[in-house]
Amino acid sequence: MTVIEQERIRTGGLLTIDVSAVVRNWDTMRRRMGNGRDCGAVVKADCYGLGATQIAPALARRGCRVFFVAMPGEGIALRRVLPDPDVAIHVLTGPLDDGTELTAHHLTPVLNTPEQLADWQTHAPGRPFTLHVDTGMNRLGMPLSAFMALPDSCTPAVVMSHLACADEPGHPLNALQQDRFATARARFPGAVASLSNSAGMFRGDDFLFDLGRPGIALYGGNPVPGQSNPMHPVVRLDLRVLQVREIDTAGTVGYGATRPVTPGMRLAIVAAGYADGLLRTLGDQGSGTIHGARVPILGRVSMDLITFDISALPAGSVHPGDYVTVLDAHHGIDSLAAEAGTLGYEILTGLSGRYTRTWTGS
Ligand SMILES: *Cc1c(COP(=O)(O)O)cnc(C)c1O
Repeated sequence: MTVIEQERIRTGGLLTIDVSAVVRNWDTMRRRMGNGRDCGAVVKADCYGLGATQIAPALARRGCRVFFVAMPGEGIALRRVLPDPDVAIHVLTGPLDDGTELTAHHLTPVLNTPEQLADWQTHAPGRPFTLHVDTGMNRLGMPLSAFMALPDSCTPAVVMSHLACADEPGHPLNALQQDRFATARARFPGAVASLSNSAGMFRGDDFLFDLGRPGIALYGGNPVPGQSNPMHPVVRLDLRVLQVREIDTAGTVGYGATRPVTPGMRLAIVAAGYADGLLRTLGDQGSGTIHGARVPILGRVSMDLITFDISALPAGSVHPGDYVTVLDAHHGIDSLAAEAGTLGYEILTGLSGRYTRTWTGS
């Protein structure tokens, strides 16, 4: 028995991650940046839940030289699989100590306050750093006024900011943030300038600057909501059928007895639930496919179980050990997210470690 076969009989779901599709998506985003500009990769939260250890080295082999993580611990783990010192790993929180952890692992802090900058210059003089200027989101980053008042002697490797409404093309904050960032980057013209996440890279040439920071688009999320998705699908999720029920007595299904069932209905009980990142809001809203037919979730999602209504399929056509597919090329993370009333980001980052994970094309 192979390791995968062994895992298949120990877990209820199969999560398949197409690493070559992530690499192709990065190529697409790099082409968007155009010649003379650079494209990084945001690999925080373990590549949005898909496995930074498997994905980041494939991106580095393709030529990606700039990676972004959220936390120092993520940076330390990433450095183990990306030992090349020419590969920059930026830590968005900045140092959470006096800088010892980041310097020891050759990580570049994103400094968010003048105090963090002063600390870094004291404890890690001469070591590269990035500055985050806030241009209107009022989240991390230093205010534009404090940023513009920094001394000329300050030499950031990268100056960055982050867009609040990049996925809303008409939002007036986009132009305002772009304008403020143009002012900020002119303060340190020698630094690499980076403004746009995935969606920002579709807002026009003015938003590209020197370095793109795509995340969700690499993992197959649609960076242009409302238009057809230019990215390749990356994840597939199949859930194992544990039991098939043919209802013989009128009643209800699941916790709370929220949904009536009538004699003759057929149900498939599958082995995954909200503990596996399939949100409770998918109850009565989500869907999957089995043997080519779309089947709806019936009743509430439990911690480890979901019930699908398979009445539309012929009797005897579904068996324990078959799989219901909830994520694939036709029903991707954005579709499942819409059914759950959330974003593809939350679907991806919630996919738990309980599935059998397979990385293909790496
Ligand atoms: C998460 C993040 C990104 C990537 O955003 P996507 O919308 O996933 O492309 C870029 N920059 C910063 C600062 C981030 O926190």
